[in-house]
Amino acid sequence: MRNRLFFLAAVLVLIHVRSVQAQTADPIHGRPGVQPPAPADTAYTLLRPDRVFDGEQMHDDWVVLVHGRTIAAAGPVARINIPAGTTTLDFKGATLLPGLIEGHSHLFLHPYNEVSWNDQVLKESRAERVARAVVHARQTLLAGFTTTRDLGTEGAMYDDVGLKQAIDKGVIPGPHILCATRAIVATGSYGPKELAYDLESPHGAAEADGLEGVTREVRTQIGKGADLIKVYVDYRWGVNGSSAPTFTVEELKKIVEVASSSGREVVVHSGTTEGMRRAIEAGVNTIEHGDGGTPELFAAMKAKGIALCPTLAAGDAITQYSGWRKGIDPEPLRLHQKRELFKQALASGVTICMGGDVGVFTHGNNALEMEDMVDYGMKPIDVLRSATSVNADVFGIANRAGRIRYKIAADMVLVEGDPTANISQVRKIIWVMKDGVFYHPDLAR
Ligand SMILES: [Zn+2]
Repeated sequence: MRNRLFFLAAVLVLIHVRSVQAQTADPIHGRPGVQPPAPADTAYTLLRPDRVFDGEQMHDDWVVLVHGRTIAAAGPVARINIPAGTTTLDFKGATLLPGLIEGHSHLFLHPYNEVSWNDQVLKESRAERVARAVVHARQTLLAGFTTTRDLGTEGAMYDDVGLKQAIDKGVIPGPHILCATRAIVATGSYGPKELAYDLESPHGAAEADGLEGVTREVRTQIGKGADLIKVYVDYRWGVNGSSAPTFTVEELKKIVEVASSSGREVVVHSGTTEGMRRAIEAGVNTIEHGDGGTPELFAAMKAKGIALCPTLAAGDAITQYSGWRKGIDPEPLRLHQKRELFKQALASGVTICMGGDVGVFTHGNNALEMEDMVDYGMKPIDVLRSATSVNADVFGIANRAGRIRYKIAADMVLVEGDPTANISQVRKIIWVMKDGVFYHPDLAR
């Protein structure tokens, strides 16, 4: 009965929605947390917005035909064969984009100005952390992010794999997830370190050392469901808490060898020049943060096909937590340096992913990274490319995400206006579609 009601509601909305104005006021699906029915495999829907960004270019004359869960055609209307019985939906003033891809999330963390990272790992039960992650997954999807690369549960073990399974089975709404599970750290390097040293504290990641140790840990995480391997190549364990390298080049090479022989990518956290140099030598796939970057290192990354995920929004948010009033106070030195670093990266031609380290800041506010990328000097259309086709290519998921293209899953987001004119339009969501199912942003509230 409930399913029938949803289906009727969906059909009514499809019939009535003829403009952006009408659409924003109409709920597409009922209550939060209840999954809409899967689309009928035989149903065709033609989407006619003002513009279609296909993941690479903006097109003024395109339409998109959705068949069940996949994109059946995309291009100028004259070149598309529209089957009889197709439902046509016009969206005046709107832009259709591929479902956005978050490159760096932590669904099991929430903003540090609410609860510090230490206290989240030490004092929140696993049940609470999973409950929060369920909410965060919904917020992510309804912010237009139909896929997220989740880079470590930070003490919540392999629960990202369970969360992903619940989403894939339709138990809860959320994005497609690429899971890192626990992440790998050198023994002694990572937190929490709040407790007295003679007490055994919960760990924020998996400790492993030596060629045998890292081999076993990579294989263990793969066995538990990791889609990729996340490694901390440096951390704040240097003298007086400075950032310093952790793993040796040999250990990193072994991690890459073991992970890549299973077809999995290696993603590294790096905040130092030496950590970054070792990661590049080991041949990892992406470098997160990259605060130790130099023009030479960015050039080396480009030469080896290693992408940079700069996580500008994390620094932006953390600086605000420590009292900086964005837009009022002058930019602190640390953020100014990050801005200069980002410009160096842009000039080098290294591939730049979009990923904000969301979790450090509020889930659903993922677009902050896109706004910061534009603010720091990237063109809006290049930011859109980063968040769609570039991320899909770098993460090895281009066969199912990142573009509006024939036979790719119908993961899309419709926004008001033109985000190439103003990137913040990606926040003005009319609806999100994942696997051919509409989700209305009101479900986030
Ligand atoms: Zn992170």
